Amino acid sequence: METQPSVASHVADSERVQRGIQGVAGMGASVANLALLLSVWGQWSAVLAVAGVSVVLTLFNAVLAERLVPRIGRARAEALRMGINATGICLIGIHTRWHVLLWVFVPYNMLWYFGLDSWVRPRMAIYLVSIDGVALATGAEPATVLSFSIIGIFGYLVSEKRGALLTEKNLELARTHQELQQLHQRALEQERLSSLGLMAASVAHEINNPMSYVTSNVDSLLQDMRDEPNLSAPMKEYVDDVLPATLDGIKRVNSIVSDLRRFSRGDFEGYSSYDFNAEVRTALRIARIQLGHVRVEEALEEVGPVVGRPRQIVQVLVNLLVNAGQATPAGGVVRLAARNEGALVRVEVRDTGSGMSEETKRHLFEPFFTTKPAGLGTGLGLSVVQGIIKAHGGRIEVESELGKGTCFTIELPKVPALPPEKGSGGDLRVAGH
Ligand code: ADP
Repeated sequence: METQPSVASHVADSERVQRGIQGVAGMGASVANLALLLSVWGQWSAVLAVAGVSVVLTLFNAVLAERLVPRIGRARAEALRMGINATGICLIGIHTRWHVLLWVFVPYNMLWYFGLDSWVRPRMAIYLVSIDGVALATGAEPATVLSFSIIGIFGYLVSEKRGALLTEKNLELARTHQELQQLHQRALEQERLSSLGLMAASVAHEINNPMSYVTSNVDSLLQDMRDEPNLSAPMKEYVDDVLPATLDGIKRVNSIVSDLRRFSRGDFEGYSSYDFNAEVRTALRIARIQLGHVRVEEALEEVGPVVGRPRQIVQVLVNLLVNAGQATPAGGVVRLAARNEGALVRVEVRDTGSGMSEETKRHLFEPFFTTKPAGLGTGLGLSVVQGIIKAHGGRIEVESELGKGTCFTIELPKVPALPPEKGSGGDLRVAGH
């Protein structure tokens, strides 16, 4: 789902660093060459060797190696460059009797080679050992060889470490940036959902007003027609069948609208005592449209008053029922059961739908985890469900088998041990009391 900053970007970082330091590194080499040239001035064979080799090396380092990189790759071009540099240093060394200024190049070359591939260290070792070997065999001072080799080795290790730390920091920054972008996306999504809730509440409110006079007018019409003694046969049919059925339909619309209004209200909901079975019925009504294609079975024991936040409990049940409906193909079964278990109420939402893979089960309750296509799922449902159940001092479990179905089980204490809430005033209203 998410793309991590990759090894490719790590290599690209090293390339960028390499290119960035090349200008400065080239300048250092020119200064050292000039100093060497001046210090052997008058010894013409040495001058010739220094000047000739320097020109070749500068050309190769600055131009050829860069042109070779696209053809043979950075690693091979670097190996070639090191080989030619080592040869150049040995040639000048033999002609200048290993002048101390020449030794500057040995560690200097090692400082700006790092982080390109796993052969960097072996290449570095071959470079150093071959120069040291030729130097010792052609009369160089062992103490000088040792001194500059130590500087070379540790200079290289320090630059390698610095490069690695910088790359690590860059990767961390890239990861943090990615996380921030995701958080921003999620905040937008949440904002959209809460606006949708507000819209649902105001639409329900708008429908409620006309529905109240439609209800009362149809009701009065039915009463008046019932009182009429001499009705024609078709009118009598209206009184006996059509108008009562219309009134039933109107009452259903009214209860959906009132459920929606209650469900989408955005105000703070304190703890109160509520009729558990009434809220289960509300949830079933709200979710009904998503369950039209399946057979809904109910096994509801009378639970009675329960303490909690009824709107949130409805939200939990609606989420589980809608998920069950979406996962179950036409003709399947969604079963909602509730029963008393001492001080607890146990609710089960079981379906004969698609079930879940182990991977889905592992991430199920994570916010924004969804396997549904964009527009159908937000991945927020179960994380909110879990939050609500935990806040009520309950727990939620899931059993699921791929291709067979899923069962969510919730255990809720009828009277949760709750900290006194600010704003709820601590006044628990008892349903039906
Ligand atoms: P959403 O429904 O928006 O995807 P949820 O948090 O409610 O978010 O669910 C997360 C994921 O859990 C779903 O995308 C789905 O893969 C899986 N899931 C939830 N309920 C069921 C179920 N009853 N059957 C199969 N998979 C389910």
